[in-house]
Amino acid sequence: MKRVAFARAGHDHDHCVEEALDRADALCATQGARLTELRRAVLELVWRGHEPVGAYALLDALKRSHPNAAPPTIYRALEFLAARGLIHRIESLNAYIGCDHPERPHEGQFLICAKCSNAAEIDDPGVARALSRSATGLGFAVTHQTVELSGLCPSCQRESIR
Ligand SMILES: [Zn+2]
Ligand SMILES: [Zn+2]
Ligand SMILES: [Zn+2]
Repeated sequence: MKRVAFARAGHDHDHCVEEALDRADALCATQGARLTELRRAVLELVWRGHEPVGAYALLDALKRSHPNAAPPTIYRALEFLAARGLIHRIESLNAYIGCDHPERPHEGQFLICAKCSNAAEIDDPGVARALSRSATGLGFAVTHQTVELSGLCPSCQRESIR
């Protein structure tokens, strides 16, 4: 299992964004989906950091390049990106985060830092399977899993010790 760690402060984030956009181009090309200029712009905005971002914050940012953007514009773009697995919706924050391995369909499990709001995916298929098994055992048919844990990321833990 690839361990997806919390992004380190001061890392080359331009590189994260570049890779995310390249992956999106490649994925949409193989799926025959159209990554329009607008959808790409929204994806780039979601990737402006590793903290989940809300639709209205995205809309405000998008208006700088697309002055006519309205709520439906952003919601349609987010819906497209989420359907392709390029972003995930963090239900507890009503916000979105970029996925760094959209090639493989998965239920994400998220660790969300209560202090700096950075989030990271655990993405452990074993966890998803265990939850599904328990649910099935109770006669429950799962359609969607939302696993979100809150706590402190490694760098916020270090800061609180200091
Ligand atoms: Zn980054
Ligand atoms: Zn993911
Ligand atoms: Zn933190």
